[in-house]
Order: sequence, then structure tokens, then C-alpha cells
Amino acid sequence: MRDDASVAAGPADLILRGGRVLVMDAEGSRAEAVAVSGGTIAAVGSDGEMDGWIGPCTRVIELAGRTVLPGINDSHLHGTHMGVVWPDVLFSDDPAESARVEQARIAGREDIVAAVRTSAEQLSRLGITSYTEPGIGPGEDGGTAVYCGSAALEVYREFALRGELRQRITLLGLYGTMDGPSSLPDVLAGIEGLARAGSDSDPRWLSVRGVKIFADLIPMMRLAWTRHAYDDGSHGGLLVVGSDLESQVASLREMVRAGHLAGLQVGVHATGDRTIQAVIDAVREAVAEPGATPAPELAHTIIHGDLVTGPQLVEMSELGMFLNAQPVIASAAGGMLAEVLGDEVAGAAWPLEAASELGVLALSSDAPMTSPDWRVGVARAEARMVAMGAATDAVSASERLHGLLRAYTAVPAAQDRAASWKGTVEAGKAADLVVLADDPHAVGAAGLPGVEIDATVLDGRIVFEREG
Ligand SMILES: [Zn+2]
Repeated sequence: MRDDASVAAGPADLILRGGRVLVMDAEGSRAEAVAVSGGTIAAVGSDGEMDGWIGPCTRVIELAGRTVLPGINDSHLHGTHMGVVWPDVLFSDDPAESARVEQARIAGREDIVAAVRTSAEQLSRLGITSYTEPGIGPGEDGGTAVYCGSAALEVYREFALRGELRQRITLLGLYGTMDGPSSLPDVLAGIEGLARAGSDSDPRWLSVRGVKIFADLIPMMRLAWTRHAYDDGSHGGLLVVGSDLESQVASLREMVRAGHLAGLQVGVHATGDRTIQAVIDAVREAVAEPGATPAPELAHTIIHGDLVTGPQLVEMSELGMFLNAQPVIASAAGGMLAEVLGDEVAGAAWPLEAASELGVLALSSDAPMTSPDWRVGVARAEARMVAMGAATDAVSASERLHGLLRAYTAVPAAQDRAASWKGTVEAGKAADLVVLADDPHAVGAAGLPGVEIDATVLDGRIVFEREG
């Protein structure tokens, strides 16, 4: 029903009706139709409820049974890097897809502009309307990944100011090199500068209020810091600069604490259980300081989190933190992990189901590490969960699929600290939508990669429509 305020807003610009709308709220609500006015969802409900929203200039799309989801949010995707190497990806569990990311040759700003455009186009085709660019900043100025340097931030700013972004961007500042050592003075200086910096861009399009920290590397290379022993007897270590482990831990904790106290989101590349614990402890410590922001408001994120434990996931949920995991890596790297840490540890790694049930699971591609195709991500996450013993009856599978779809929509909106205005199909939220040819619940997670993406709506505008 329309209330007085919505009558004043006039007829809708766009109506999608006659389909299945998966709202993606926690309850799994459904509707038949959605009306869009300007950049905002005006109404969600039955087909009949849309009649009052139709005016002479309203475009009405008959869904004919197709499905609408909120626009997909890839919560860890290197947009500039992906555009530079497109269509290659580094890592795939499908041998037919496997390709190598060539050493990127990039001369300057125009290459970065072209890379952002390439990614934007490909991501629109996949229904992706938001992503987190996890690490752009002065740390890579003069480094090998120029597309992650300050010039890339300038390019995103210019796209935002011209209103030309085709995805909403959450960007984490980078004050060291990609996959390189984190130095406490450099990160602290970066945090201080970022906290002070004003922004001339609309935060709904470009939000730069977070910092990326590299704490350790990956367990497959025996570099994650873990209580388990690798096959050579070692336990890995930290990537943080320091003379010994004790001083490295102290520096890591200080980085996280400083980020929190500056009011910034902290995204930590952390794969080992000991590393993850150091980050959790630092968040707890920061929150306890007088006047500190409550942790959930900052949505701190463990990126990758391969060896995260069940109790750590519970702690993360208490602190409003997220586990940002990549299903293609989780489903493909288990064998490599078993070689260095044994079957038992590898079998318990990437506990996606436990994370999903606690509401802390945000899924992502880490493109160009893996393909940005989130449909494949959902299928691989399901495969990993079943391999770890998840129940396979129809009701459990359907509930699990709901959780996986939320991990690409509503949960990453919370990771973006934007759950109040995006991530679900509800009146008043941003009109970011994707139209699928079929209902994911009809085909199941394993069948999702075969479902076509028919259209993408960004801020109320159709930015992709499949031909035919
Ligand atoms: Zn990454």
C-alpha cells in the first residue's frame, strides 16, 4: 500500500513484476514485485500492489517467473588488478579455466582508468553492484603493483566525482606493499593521515574509511602462524616487521588498536589461527579503552582466515567482526594444505558453515586470484560445506543456500557498514538489483553456475541487460 509520503514521490521509474523477489533479509522473505523510484526501492510486494506505482513514463519489466536478488557485493576484489590482467585468473579448481596472471605491464594512469572500466563492465555482467577494493595507497607507489598505488585512488575518486562508477566501492588504504611486510611506523602514519583526510566523494559510491594490514601469508607455503606444526616442524610466523615474534605481535596489535581508535575499519590479511587470535585480542583491547567506538560499528574483518577456529568465530561474532573467505580457494586448496599440515587440520580449515550460521561469513572472489563469478563461489562453498559433513537433506540445503546468498549480499553490506541502506530488497534501500533467469532455490547451489544473469540494476538504472 502507498502512504502519503510515497504518493508525493510520484509514479515509479521502473517496476519489475511477476517474479520471485528474494529479499535476503535474515527471515528469507519473498515477494513478487519491486518498484524503483530514482535510485531507491519505492515498494516491494505483490504484483497487485504495484498498480498504484505505474505512471505514463514507468518502464515495466515482466519477470515471467524470473528471480530478483539484491545486487551482488564482492567483498574482497582487486578491481584495478583484475582489469589489468582480465580475463586471466591465478587460481581455479577447474583445470579448463586455469590460467596464469601474467606479470602486469602497466605504464601509467590511463592504464588504470582502462582497468577500472574493464572490471566495471565485466562485474556488471555478473550482477555485481558493490565491491571492496582491499588495498590501495602509497604503499605501492613505486612498487611492482602500480595499479594498487596512490594513482589508483585518484582514478577511483575521479570516477566517483564524475558519477561514472558502475559499482559502489569500499576501499581499504594500503601502507605497505601487497603481500609484503607491514611496518608499524608506516601503518600508523597511514592511519593518522586517513583519519584526518576529508573526502570529496559521496560515501555511497566511494568510501575510504578502512585500512588493510598484512599480518601473515598462506599456510600452503608454511607461512601462516599456527599452533599446529607444519611437516617440517615449523609453525610459520608473522609478516609484521620486528626483531622477534614477541615484538611482531606487539606491533600487529598496535596497528589494529590504532585503526580502531581512529574510527577506521581494519581488514587484516590473516590465515593462521595464532595470527587471527592476535587480531581478535587487539580488537578486544581497543574496545575496552575509555571512549572507544563499539567494535560492531567498525566491522573489522579477517581476510582469508584459513585456519580460524570455532571459538574464534564465536568471539568474532561477539565483536561484530567478519570472516572474509574465498570459496574457490577453500574448495581447491585443501589438498595442498593437507600436504603441509596433515588431513585432520586441512579437513577442519575454512569452517564456512559454522561462520555462516554465526552470521559472520562474507564471501568473495579475491579476483583476479579467482574468477569474480559469485555463482561459482556459491557452488564451491556448498561443496566445501558438504565435504566437511554438512547435512544434505533438502531443508538444510535450502537454508544453507540462503546463508550463502546472504554472504554475497546482506552480510557484505554490513561489512561495508552500509546495511541501513543496501544489501537487501526493501523499500527505502538503494535500488541495486540483479535479475536471474531462474530461482537459485529451484536449481540448488550446485546448479547456480548454470543460471543466466539477465539484468543488473544499479542505483535504479539498468546497467546490464542480457541479449535475447
Ligand atoms: Zn586479496
